[in-house]
Amino acid sequence: QDNNPDALVANLNPQQRQAVEYRGKALLIVAGAGSGKTRVLTHRIAHFLAAKELWPSQILAITFTNKAASEMRDRVESLIGASSEGMWIKTFHSACLQILRREADRLGYDSNFTVYDTSDSRALLKRLLREAGAEDADIKPQQAAAIISNAKNELKDAEDFARNADRSNPKERIVAEVFQGYERELKRNNAFDFDDLISETVHLLRAHPEVRGRYQKRFRHILVDEYQDTNHAQYALIRELTRPMPDEYAIFDDRTGEQIPPAELTVVGDSDQSIYAFRGADIRNITEFERDFPGAQTILLEQNYRSTQNILSGANAVISQNPYRKAKNLWTDAGSGELISVFTGYDERNEAAYVVDQIKQLHTQGTNYRDMAVLYRTNALTPSLEAELKTQRIPYAVIGGLKFFERKEIKDALAYLSIISNARNDEAARRVLNIPARGVGEKTELKIAQFARENDLPFRMALARVGELGLGPKLTATIEEFAQMLSELEALSAAEGPAEVLKLLLTRSGYRASLEGSRDPQDEARIENLDALLGQLYQWQAVNPEGTLSDYLAEVTLAAAADEIEDESGTISLMTLHTAKGLEYHTVFLIGLEQGTLPHIRSFDEPGGLQEERRLMYVGMTRAKQKLYITNALQRTLFGNTSSFVPSSFLNDIPQELCEQVGQERRALRESNYQAPRTSWQGALNTVAAVRDNKDLTLEVGDRVQHDTFGTGKVIAVSGTPPKQTAEVRFESGPTKRLLVKMAPIVKL
Ligand code: ATP
Ligand code: MG
Repeated sequence: QDNNPDALVANLNPQQRQAVEYRGKALLIVAGAGSGKTRVLTHRIAHFLAAKELWPSQILAITFTNKAASEMRDRVESLIGASSEGMWIKTFHSACLQILRREADRLGYDSNFTVYDTSDSRALLKRLLREAGAEDADIKPQQAAAIISNAKNELKDAEDFARNADRSNPKERIVAEVFQGYERELKRNNAFDFDDLISETVHLLRAHPEVRGRYQKRFRHILVDEYQDTNHAQYALIRELTRPMPDEYAIFDDRTGEQIPPAELTVVGDSDQSIYAFRGADIRNITEFERDFPGAQTILLEQNYRSTQNILSGANAVISQNPYRKAKNLWTDAGSGELISVFTGYDERNEAAYVVDQIKQLHTQGTNYRDMAVLYRTNALTPSLEAELKTQRIPYAVIGGLKFFERKEIKDALAYLSIISNARNDEAARRVLNIPARGVGEKTELKIAQFARENDLPFRMALARVGELGLGPKLTATIEEFAQMLSELEALSAAEGPAEVLKLLLTRSGYRASLEGSRDPQDEARIENLDALLGQLYQWQAVNPEGTLSDYLAEVTLAAAADEIEDESGTISLMTLHTAKGLEYHTVFLIGLEQGTLPHIRSFDEPGGLQEERRLMYVGMTRAKQKLYITNALQRTLFGNTSSFVPSSFLNDIPQELCEQVGQERRALRESNYQAPRTSWQGALNTVAAVRDNKDLTLEVGDRVQHDTFGTGKVIAVSGTPPKQTAEVRFESGPTKRLLVKMAPIVKL
């Protein structure tokens, strides 16, 4: 704690110090992970305050997450030993939300407007698409949502879109029409969607120079962390807040009467950590900074203070495989440290058991839970891990995401199972009545509920008598069909296990199809989560062959209630690689390092996809300070099917001498009926090299193949087309496996 600005730079290296002390219109700091970018931002803010150059209220700092914002505030306050009240440290969305609340009337909104989340927007779009006759043109609400979101991120409104739409293309014409209807409806409902928060703020500042002047007068210095991940709308927002005011709107200091120059800007970023291209993030915002802000100063930081040399070298080796990047010269004097531990599990439970075992050991040796994190590419990887953590009573928190059983799609699926298991569960019946959206609105739901009450029936039973409500033929038919489906599933549940019931209901209800039609990464994650639930249910069934649906549901409810255990040494953090950006932990576990998981299978068909995946890997590795574990599983069970996976090609990029291969867990071996493959990690890596040419392989029923682990087998079924073709193979060694042809370690004989 020191109010002396010079003391604030005492603990910085010369480049960092230069960055903190620099004064001028625009400053760009570009540097690799862990080089102190965020620390420089924090110190720079404290330096302005300590030197009494700025009041807290004159500063606007933008961070990527709310967690980062509150950490930055704490750091600044502890540096200056005073409150930072009045200072805005916010995310783009929360800063814009606050501006819009104040200025809503200028946009024709009430200040108590609603913010629509993705599912609200989706439901609205669905209705509009139906009205526009989009079923015939085959446009899914998810597609329309993605198109509209992209347009908004590019600051194009419905009119722009309509003007540029190709009228002869029916899809474009309908999307243009729906976009306009969507905007109209949002406004009528006094609502903004998520993208609006930013784009509408930009429009506001552009349309109302006096408002722009007011915020420029207030915010004299703007600082942006993680600048590499800003999209065009976010970039434009910064531009509006720092662009010179026209003469007729010039702003003046209240006290001195002097004209006030545009606000100053500091941005920090690392193009190697740009991981939001799918949301329109544009690295050009960094590369073209100097053109946009002439006279800007650029400072490079090269010393990494976070990680040991082994971790840093490993991360550098991985990212250096990306083409078109400026080589960086990141070094550390932290010493080589421990080797990177690499573990190959034969399935996801084995992998989870190993990770949790290590966590327990580290905790016994004195590492706090809060200093450890498990990072993964998608949320679908957490169920086995969460189950293991629960069993071992280790407190954990899923950061930036709901715990598995709190997720919407999981709750939806469980509600379906619940109404099938217990017809009197009105809450569950009402929850799923319109899931996926089948056009049954709240009014109808209320009518049915009232009818049920009058006739003393459970809601579920009232559904079957919906014909008596006089609802109109289409709606009546829809609800009757829904009731019929529930009855069928009920019948099925008497004969089959819970997993079969879930599997059928996901297709039969249309839920799976509704998610599959989506381009939203969140919906892809939902499918994976549902598949993970199904996989878990199959496993549960294997252990509880006599178990009924209601047994399962009761067990899940109890397990979810056990979530509350806390411990004074904190909790383990579980999060996706996207969420982990900017954070650091003593020990990091990077799980699911398989082809198709990381790099994610979706990235294979996308231009630049693999490079973005590699940046994610780099972000993940560079979160670790002292110890890094990297794990993979040779098979995972998804959607009740067990598929083989080969280790991620990214593992090949890490020099061998930085790694140690660690052994397999015995206990889990016993639990599994699967024979542990004799492949060593090195062997598995060779496999990766061998299967890289599999891309063009297509299989037919009857083909014979040789698999690295299972030996020879015969293709008994194929589905899908390349590159997504899967083949079911019966191996002479016993098992039948479903394999993703382009990735499986197989050769055609
Ligand atoms: P990322 O790219 O991951 O966001 P970053 O560049 O923002 O990383 P910081 O998080 O600011 O890096 O710093 C990484 C770690 O190094 C932090 O723990 C920080 O306190 C520490 N650090 C940075 N500079 C110094 C320094 N000069 N002396 C001591 N520790 C430092
Ligand atoms: Mg940072």
